Amino acid sequence: MVRALLLVVAWCCCGTTACWSMQVNGQSKPPAVARWPHEARVGFFHIHADYDFSARIGFFRQLESLPRELSETLGIKISEEPIHLILFGKQNDYRMYLRTHFPDLPSRQALFIKRRGPGMVFAFESQRLEIDLRHEATHALLHASLPYVPLWLDEGLAEYFEIPAAQRRNGNPHHSYVRMAALVGKAPSIHKLEAIGGIDEMGNPQYRQAWAWVHFFLHESDQSRAVLQEFLRDLQVHSPPGSFARRVATDLPGHPQRFIKHFR
Ligand SMILES: [Zn+2]
Repeated sequence: MVRALLLVVAWCCCGTTACWSMQVNGQSKPPAVARWPHEARVGFFHIHADYDFSARIGFFRQLESLPRELSETLGIKISEEPIHLILFGKQNDYRMYLRTHFPDLPSRQALFIKRRGPGMVFAFESQRLEIDLRHEATHALLHASLPYVPLWLDEGLAEYFEIPAAQRRNGNPHHSYVRMAALVGKAPSIHKLEAIGGIDEMGNPQYRQAWAWVHFFLHESDQSRAVLQEFLRDLQVHSPPGSFARRVATDLPGHPQRFIKHFR
């Protein structure tokens, strides 16, 4: 089904979960367009499920706000193209479906796939479903709206938006780890994150570091937020953004020290 893999955008493995996020080039029709036993449409999200997901409808009403949250937080226009969420009531059925339709992909907790058409997110019912869907939907919205997203930033933003909006400033589980490192004067290197060449180079520390820099840029000051927003806007208008690390070194002098102060 997947004729040619053009670009693996992201790989995610955070604690007990993992997502596989990728952009592919294929001619075949996405399986998401088939009729499913239970379907609904919430904002940009087209939900297809093999089980009755009505107990989750409150969550999907919240998820409907995610495009606006991204737009307001990041200062970019979010594409209105539909995103298909394909949900399974049982993990075994999810795995069997993916083995059948995407046999070349590794088995993961959740999956985002984008071909030339709308993005597709695959997940199964579990205690982590809401986190998985916010995470993958963030990838889907970013890749629908931007021509390219650097790997570390793609994952850092997905980690940031995967928890409910009210908890994003202070409630992410990454926060305490990053604070402890900051207390002993450690700030991760943006250069090293930017140099990550593939998904297999990203482990839990890299996801946490990517989240930490996203949190810093969004919450340290208006100046830091403007640096990230301007970079994303340049991406959106196809203006070559260059190295983010070099841009930060110029536009936000002393950022490692500011990072440590921010998390202390
Ligand atoms: Zn991810």
